Formats: sequence, C-alpha cells, structure tokens
Amino acid sequence: MVARRDQTTDPVLLDGLLQARRGTAFFARKLNELPDADLGGDSLLPGWTRRHVIAHVGYNARAIARLVEWAATGVETPMYPSVEVRNHEIDFGATLSPIALRNLFDHSAVHLNVEWRDLPADSWHHKVKTVQGRTVPAEETVWMRTREVWVHAVDLDNGARFKDIPAPVLARLLKDITGAWHARGTDKELVIEVTGRASPRTYGDTTAASPTVISGSLPAIARWATGRGTDGTTAQRGGAPITPVPVAPAWI
Ligand code: ZN
Repeated sequence: MVARRDQTTDPVLLDGLLQARRGTAFFARKLNELPDADLGGDSLLPGWTRRHVIAHVGYNARAIARLVEWAATGVETPMYPSVEVRNHEIDFGATLSPIALRNLFDHSAVHLNVEWRDLPADSWHHKVKTVQGRTVPAEETVWMRTREVWVHAVDLDNGARFKDIPAPVLARLLKDITGAWHARGTDKELVIEVTGRASPRTYGDTTAASPTVISGSLPAIARWATGRGTDGTTAQRGGAPITPVPVAPAWI
C-alpha cells in the first residue's frame, strides 16, 4: 500500500523535509515565472544558461532519488555512474524543448518526494554514498536536495535572492562551506563574521593573529561564500579596509 504521509516521525527530519519541499516550491515558482523564450538566457553560473540549471536540478532529483531507493531496497545504486555521465546529462538536458525541461523538473521532484514519503522510518539510517564519495545516512539526502533547490533558484537570475532563503538553510550552508574550507586548509588567515545579531557569529580561522575578516549579513555572507558575488560584504585586516573584497575560496 502506498503511504499518503511521511513514514518517519523524527521531528528534525520532518523539519528538514519541510525546508526541502519549500525550496522545491520556491524553485518551481521562479521557473514558472520565466517565459519559454527566456529559458536560454544566462544564469548566474558561468557558462551555464538557465536551461543548464533547470536540467541539473531535475537530474539531481533523480540522482538523489536513486540514493533513497538504495536505502529502501539495500541494492547499491549510485547517484551517477560517473562525473562524465553527470556532466553529459546536463549538457543534453539543456537542449530539451521548454516543455520537456519543465516536465523534467516537475516529474523528478514529484518522484523524489514520493521516495522520501514512502521510505520506512528505519531505512532513513541506511548508509548511502554521495557523488563526492562520502558515506552518509539516507537522511542526508534531504539536506543535499535542500541546498540545491534554494541556491539554484537564485541562479535562475529572475528575482530570487539569498535573503529569500530561510535563515536555518543559510546557516547550515555556511557551516558546510566553511567546514569544506577547513578540511582542505583553504581558510588560513580568513575569518567570516555574520553581523546583524547581538554578538556576531564567526567562522573560519578564528585563532589567526591577524586574519582578513569578511563581514556581512547572513544572506550576504552565504552568497559570497558560495562564490556568487561580494554585494553587502566588507573586508578588513587589523582595522584597515580591503577593497575589493577578496573572492571566497572554492567551495565544490
Ligand atoms: Zn547543483
């Protein structure tokens, strides 16, 4: 029998699923606002049109659904056979007709949602492997999808902004990115300061003696950290302003 509601009762997971579903609805809204003739326009990602972004987000849902199926059945099914296949798929998807591209997004999102909804509570702990080779519980697929739909909605470049993304999503994104920098050692002498609270929250090389400090609101800092521009951020070292604001270390 097909379940009509989520099988998990874990409140943290249910909250995560809500953010993923809201993000999917947000991406859908921004996509639906775009006329067919504008799909070929530039996205905010270098070398990618909006078609590439839409194709990528659609195929990403399918790839994540494969991980959820893996958790459900125990049969190993990777996200993508290889990085080359993934990239080729996006290039191919970008050539689809507008209606096919819209269907790809819609159908893949519905399919992923059904896989999540019907996944038995215990199977959410089943280990799966991401395209980067990380072994994670199936629960992680929710966050993997959440950050994709919210950030790529902005990449469509038709009005979505980082400040439209819920603060908990931005905060987790920033934690992910600064964690990746730390693991690679690319955050040396770099401190990130999120302003707009009673006490600013800092990330990065916080024990450095004389670091470059990048400051801004949570949306501005998250935008900068993902490599999408410096608007709303400032930089200084030892109190002396640095202009222009340095580009963030690579994330992915
Ligand atoms: Zn992506």
